[in-house]
Amino acid sequence: MNRILIIGAGGVAKVTAYKCAMNTDVFGEIMIASRTKSKCDAIAADVKQDIGIAIHTAQVNADDVPALTTLLLDYKPKLVLNLALPYQDLTIMDACLAAGVHYLDTANYEPPNEAKFEYSWQWAYQERFQQAGLTAILGCGFDPGVTNVFTAYAAKHYFDEIHNLDIVDANAGSHGKAFATNFNPEINIREVTQKGKYWKDGSWVETAPHEIMKVLNYPDVGHKESYLIFHEELESLVKNFPTLRQARFWMTFSQEYLTHLRVIQNIGMASIIPIMYEGREIVPIQFLKAVLPNPGDLGENYTGQTSIGCRIRGIKNGQENTYYIWNNCHHADCYKETKSQAVSYTTGVPAMVGAKMFLQGHWVGSGVWNVEQFDPDPFLADLTLQGLPWHEQHNSDLEL
Ligand code: NDP
Repeated sequence: MNRILIIGAGGVAKVTAYKCAMNTDVFGEIMIASRTKSKCDAIAADVKQDIGIAIHTAQVNADDVPALTTLLLDYKPKLVLNLALPYQDLTIMDACLAAGVHYLDTANYEPPNEAKFEYSWQWAYQERFQQAGLTAILGCGFDPGVTNVFTAYAAKHYFDEIHNLDIVDANAGSHGKAFATNFNPEINIREVTQKGKYWKDGSWVETAPHEIMKVLNYPDVGHKESYLIFHEELESLVKNFPTLRQARFWMTFSQEYLTHLRVIQNIGMASIIPIMYEGREIVPIQFLKAVLPNPGDLGENYTGQTSIGCRIRGIKNGQENTYYIWNNCHHADCYKETKSQAVSYTTGVPAMVGAKMFLQGHWVGSGVWNVEQFDPDPFLADLTLQGLPWHEQHNSDLEL
């Protein structure tokens, strides 16, 4: 029987808990542990009511390696699904090594006191995981995650060499709030306010934040202003697909969203530098998170859909071809199934499918892996069955 431990009790963890509970043939026993136990209990109560499956809960501070190691040694899960924040990646990997437990996450490590994310910190665990005979699966949400698998699928089936990759991410939904982020506000605002960066002919090209914009046409969604930003999967994809000459990431933002973001930055509320307030140290962006809507609560009145995919250009048998592979996901459908919005859903479902790939023996091997290094076929076959069907188009106009 496979026993798993989910860490974190936010929007993404809730979806993964629901989906694991819908797959009890693979996930025989589930525990959800987080900093605030009442949030774990609330998820467990929802899952019990909607799916009829009991989930164990526990309190744990994942920054505390000895405490987390004790929990792992007591509960003895086969796999940890890290759905807390990127700040916890390294301590959770340390505890997994100490307790002999396999590891999976959806976002790469980011130091709390520096708005910078890259894989170097987690790739440095390669030898330790290899020596321990353990598997660490990195970045198994939608982007990173499904977008990496889409790229691997294209490279495996349709190209001899892929040359150009454009990952396109649209959220054409409406949650009815003046301003809200769709996942953890602190992580999200740190991500979208940093400089843009893309891969071109063997090196990184930096841009000012939101300097490059193109209007792109998304299936069933229509035309949307899409901004070039840096996104973490670009780093592993250019390493694992060295034929790539150009790799970029585009995300849609409304003018309303960008205006709020500009104001937040201009008045210093996006700052990660602690300030003293009434004798107490606070971090402005953490205070901002506390007053913004909770992303996990946006689902109920959310309308519209997300559309995320990969637009790829390359050669097959000496001829240039294009390929577009994508998923569209309706916020309202996600809410009906898991009481969550589509951004949490499109992250939480792939985390469950990745865990399933590991537990069923499709994705195995000692060491630290990005998901594009595994066989994409069983993952994509199951993704459709688990609520995220995907579509493809050959030799259409990529617009890019
Ligand atoms: P939330 O902020 O909703 O949830 C984070 C959870 O982690 C909270 O329950 C929080 O506890 C818990 N947590 C934070 N610190 C600790 C700690 N030290 N110990 C134990 N638990 C802790 O975030 P989301 O659910 O929106 O996002 C979860 C992860 O998914 C993030 O890493 C995010 O970057 C990633 N993500 C990945 C995407 C992808 O496509 N790959 C897309 C969207 C998100 P508390 O409730 O007490 O604050």
